[in-house]
Amino acid sequence: MTFSLRPTYDDPRTAELVDRLRDYLDGELADHERERGLTHATRLTRADLEQVWRRSRELGFYGIHLPQEYGGQNLTYAQLAALKEEIGASGRVLAHSVLGDMGGPLRAGDILKHATEYQLDKYLLPLIRGERACCFSLTETDAGSDVRSMRTVAVHDGDGYRLTGHKVFSSAGPFADFAIVVARMAGTGEQEGDKPQFSAFLVDLDSPGCRAEDGATPMSGEHIESDIVLDDCYVPAANLLGEEGKGMRIALGRVTTNRLLHCPTVLGATRRALALTLDRTRTRKVAGGQPLLMLQAIQHKVADMATEFYAARSMTYAALAALDAGREAHAEAFMCKLFVAESAFRILDEAVQIHGKEGLTQGNEIEYLFRKIRMFRILTGTSEIQRNGIAKLLAFNH
Ligand SMILES: Cc1cc2nc3c(=O)[nH]c(=O)nc-3n(C[C@H](O)[C@H](O)[C@H](O)COP(=O)(O)OP(=O)(O)OC[C@H]3O[C@@H](n4cnc5c(N)ncnc54)[C@H](O)[C@@H]3O)c2cc1C
Repeated sequence: MTFSLRPTYDDPRTAELVDRLRDYLDGELADHERERGLTHATRLTRADLEQVWRRSRELGFYGIHLPQEYGGQNLTYAQLAALKEEIGASGRVLAHSVLGDMGGPLRAGDILKHATEYQLDKYLLPLIRGERACCFSLTETDAGSDVRSMRTVAVHDGDGYRLTGHKVFSSAGPFADFAIVVARMAGTGEQEGDKPQFSAFLVDLDSPGCRAEDGATPMSGEHIESDIVLDDCYVPAANLLGEEGKGMRIALGRVTTNRLLHCPTVLGATRRALALTLDRTRTRKVAGGQPLLMLQAIQHKVADMATEFYAARSMTYAALAALDAGREAHAEAFMCKLFVAESAFRILDEAVQIHGKEGLTQGNEIEYLFRKIRMFRILTGTSEIQRNGIAKLLAFNH
């Protein structure tokens, strides 16, 4: 893999898909956002997203990674990553809705393989068609990294369950019809030494006893998170995902794949920051009328930024290639998530520095990207949790 801020691909299928996606992102979608006056500060509505879901589906991008039986094109992880990188690099406000990250097939992840016929028909096939959307609700105020300390509880009730609890930071919640909720089974994990058991449920957000409320606004400023409040909410047994007591495995299985698949989106955003920064160094004149890029102090910064980006990108695609070859890449996924998040943060910090006051000004894309990228050291598992995972695998497997 060579270094490029506009990568080309040897695999003809990837090259063709990336070209088509760039055309859509830079053409039709850019025009649409301009006409609607959408910016990263806009509070998006379901209607804003639905339009993109529909169009992306027509163009074949929505759910493109899925097997053909679900209307996808059965992409490899590396092919999907190349598309996700373009999504991140595009700078488009609605880019998250093109492949189905925001409430669509990518948010549902691999729960598809745990779904019954009924769940496919009622929830997941409509989601793939862009008719319904979901969020994923694991985190609670006092249960983040230590998610097993969650308080949301599921109690058996006749032919179903009653769920009570309060989930926070469910991304895509404001646009979702249903949530994938993980809850502790009542009567488990209540005594010292008794292991808690968790189950995963598909919960309609308009069920009696369920509310999706405006969540906290993270530092990115985007209003794309909800709290999911469950108050004795009845969930039929048909909505249990997988086996009872196996919900945490389903949820964390999804998180493991996600960990690696989030990396290309962040790489894309970092690539965009690098490109914007290089432009700035060429056009911004300083002492003696020379461009910033003529200063060695600035040259060294951009050299370090590009080198870190190249390292992060190379290791991500190497890990994805291992997955595509059918090998396990648990340690590699932790390593990529750690290195991509930490290097992207360093790169964005320097990008702000090079942009000077412009980089500190709201409305400037670098200022937004800095805030957005900063979150990635915490989202989808913090950097410390990635280090714990790497160390544990080193201790037991090597
Ligand atoms: C914008 C945003 C979107 C999100 N989207 C979702 C979503 O869609 N669904 C969902 O369920 N959740 C979501 N989350 C929650 C996210 O996954 C958690 O924030 C994350 O897992 C960390 O949990 P915490 O914030 O409670 O931090 P804490 O667990 O309180 O951790 C605080 C600090 O302590 C460190 N720490 C904790 N435990 C250890 C340990 N064992 N060893 C070393 N260090 C440790 C952490 O690394 C961190 O630095 C989202 C969060 C945000 C901000």
